[in-house]
Amino acid sequence: MKNKSVIAEADDVRRAVEMVQLGARMQMLEVETRLSREKLLKIYKEVRGVSPPKGMLPFSTDWFMTWQPNVHWSLFMGFHRFFTGRAGVQGLEATLKAYHLYLDHIESMVVEPVLSLTRAWTLVRFFDADMLQLAACTSCGGHFVAHAHDPVQGYVCGLCNMPSRAGSSRKKVAAGRAVARTRQTASV
Ligand SMILES: [Zn+2]
Repeated sequence: MKNKSVIAEADDVRRAVEMVQLGARMQMLEVETRLSREKLLKIYKEVRGVSPPKGMLPFSTDWFMTWQPNVHWSLFMGFHRFFTGRAGVQGLEATLKAYHLYLDHIESMVVEPVLSLTRAWTLVRFFDADMLQLAACTSCGGHFVAHAHDPVQGYVCGLCNMPSRAGSSRKKVAAGRAVARTRQTASV
């Protein structure tokens, strides 16, 4: 990469640092920057003080369907739709902005974030590949992550049709309300 622009490289370094601070794994850094693996490893170690975890990302679309995480994915995707649909922000920038907003919301509700940045990024890729879609709940009106080819007519979300083992703690209900609220800002 002899002829690479210094400014472009500086930009990649800045993004890599931001992604590592937000908890990104190596796979995401390698796809989203043009930096060498060696350089990315150095950045990772410098920012987090340890080597990155090894191994592939064990994510499948089914992972995003389990009850509690689905509320979090849906909240994040609502923000992502807002940035790409209304604010004209695309690609990695939209993912990072939506993730920051997700963290802010989760923090304000005093709930532990369930969605890591790498998972959020994977989620967006599943949407881009038409493997997932947002389905509107006929009961609360919120938009929730669903498999792309599942029928969405008459869809009822996991909060309105809560599994008995999930209980109904106030925090979970608050997370659900936040999803419903994002429909006002995020067009689908
Ligand atoms: Zn609902």
